[in-house]
Amino acid sequence: MRTALVCGAGGFIGSHLVKRLKSEGLWVRGVDLKYPEFSPSVADDFVIGDLRDPYFVRSVIDRRFDEVYQLAADMGGAGYVFTGEHDADIMHNSALINLNVLEACYKRNIKRIFYSSSACMYPAYNQMDPQNPKTAEHTAYPADPDSEYGWEKLFSERLYLAFHRNYGLEVRIARYHNIFGPEGTWVGGREKAPAALSRKVAIAKLKGLPYIEVWGDGEQTRSFLYIDECIEGSLRLMRSDFTGPVNIGSEEMVTINQLAQLIMQIAGVKLEIRHVTGPIGVRGRTSDNTLIYEKLKWKPSAPLYAGLEITYHWIESQVKAAIEAGKL
Ligand code: NAD
Repeated sequence: MRTALVCGAGGFIGSHLVKRLKSEGLWVRGVDLKYPEFSPSVADDFVIGDLRDPYFVRSVIDRRFDEVYQLAADMGGAGYVFTGEHDADIMHNSALINLNVLEACYKRNIKRIFYSSSACMYPAYNQMDPQNPKTAEHTAYPADPDSEYGWEKLFSERLYLAFHRNYGLEVRIARYHNIFGPEGTWVGGREKAPAALSRKVAIAKLKGLPYIEVWGDGEQTRSFLYIDECIEGSLRLMRSDFTGPVNIGSEEMVTINQLAQLIMQIAGVKLEIRHVTGPIGVRGRTSDNTLIYEKLKWKPSAPLYAGLEITYHWIESQVKAAIEAGKL
């Protein structure tokens, strides 16, 4: 039986990945600081522990897994990553996790490991123009990410590539661009734009409020990839002979104001958008899918609206339950 290890299996992408690997018949061990928040893990074995601890990491990497997915990171949306308040934790915690996991995989003679980098590693100077951001893979250097989160991702990409060059580990590196979907963080400060806006619209709808707040002028552009396509792309990359780094993201670019309008349309409400000061990140970003298509003959293609519909309805049900429980 093929075996897989998923680090970060209690998180949003990791918990969906475990479901997919199980549906394909693999034996799966998940590792995280916490269990998944919204539904029980379907992993065969789930170990709670801290991947910053090298002894713990060696104890969970106790066999030659066929596939190792390293998704664990200290991360969040703009409200967590771009305020500067968590920079030391973000860099220290995520770098330690990657150092430990790579070392343990190498010592256990594991052949193949997947690493989830982020579009946040792209230089800020190529993302000033909201209508024309550049994120082709070769534009990563000279490096100038706009957050320490992005710098850590860049460092870790290089760490994985160095283990590949020096020790022959087959690494697969994906640069994810804004992944969203049901069972993702939607409240608390670590949530991303689609979840945050869905929550605000759902609260306004259910409580009869006339407006929502949007950070900045809302004219910053982004693209958002639905979770199922993220998992599909990740597995295709993992099982290909291409190392990467490669973008896994959507090319359907929208402004944050347009995203808010789409969500209101799905919710069946018309609300005023009030622009307020808040962390916003770069002016424009979308995925460039030229390379992934060239190498894997595949790229994400589902429309944003379809994924948003599923996600909004899931978040509205969460908000409704939280209001009924007096938590919102
Ligand atoms: P997430 O925060 O939901 O999942 C990360 C998981 O890592 C969490 O469950 C967390 O508890 C776990 N973790 C953190 N520190 C740990 C530690 N010391 N020991 C054990 N577990 C620890 O995030 P996600 O959205 O599922 O993202 C998964 C990966 O993809 C991350 O590496 C992230 O940087 C990357 N990524 C995500 C996106 C996105 O839009 N979601 C975009 C770019 C890159």
